[in-house]
Amino acid sequence: MRLCRFDNDRLGVVLGDEIADVTEALDVLPSVRWPVPLGDLLIQHLDEVVAKAEGLLPNAARKPRTSVKLLSPVANPTKVIGAPVNYQLHIDEANADKASFGQSQEIKSIDYYGPFLKANTSLIGADEPVEIRFPDRRNDHEVELAVIIGKTGTNISYDDAMDYVAGYAIGLDMTVRGTEDRSVRKSLDTYSVLGPWLVTKDEIADPDKLDFWITVNNEIRQKSNTSYLIYDVRKQIEYFSSFYTLVAGDVIMTGTPEGVGPVKDGDTMVAEIEGIGRMEVAVRNA
Ligand code: MN
Repeated sequence: MRLCRFDNDRLGVVLGDEIADVTEALDVLPSVRWPVPLGDLLIQHLDEVVAKAEGLLPNAARKPRTSVKLLSPVANPTKVIGAPVNYQLHIDEANADKASFGQSQEIKSIDYYGPFLKANTSLIGADEPVEIRFPDRRNDHEVELAVIIGKTGTNISYDDAMDYVAGYAIGLDMTVRGTEDRSVRKSLDTYSVLGPWLVTKDEIADPDKLDFWITVNNEIRQKSNTSYLIYDVRKQIEYFSSFYTLVAGDVIMTGTPEGVGPVKDGDTMVAEIEGIGRMEVAVRNA
């Protein structure tokens, strides 16, 4: 199922070019009070929500996809985890142009840096613009497969990793190049785009074999396949959960391939991942 959050936090099922409104499915969620449990309530109860949504679908009101505003399909992750330098050709391009990347030393591998975290306040959906706060600096797109964690766990083994996946989305790990820590440069408001919707795990046969690409103003910038991931999806879940508990609703941005490049006010990014979908994201100055 393709589940989206749209307009004023309504819940939709994507059916071709239409969105079926199944907001009533949210009634299966428990009511909570302070202190609310960590994580995303919808993702924690995804199976019940999906079952309820299926029952609602035959009579659900439908709207054209283009008439709704898509928000991040995950509302409340405890963290957005980033995988640094997880494609060899991206490591190579960064090392070939250290000045642009704000680095003075040879860039190493993912197991050298470990994961980084992006602030939850940076999260937006497909129909919200990326807002550039520092137009005088280089601001780059990074298109990535995003994995949404479905079950809380820690020290998860490689073989068990898929049990902890709820689904997938397209992630844009927007970045200001410079010398600051990654957790700063990738955490600006609007710098984590998640969309256009959540595709449940059952719809993707193998997350490590997906074509994906991004254009800026119709010019192709990045085009790769997740088969080139240095740490594949299972390995990332194993590795990241060796540091901290993954909570239902957490988002993993799995790393970006070669071809990262600058965006500026007025640009339009279009990103697509095979089996997930396509989204068009505007860029403007804050
Ligand atoms: Mn990235």
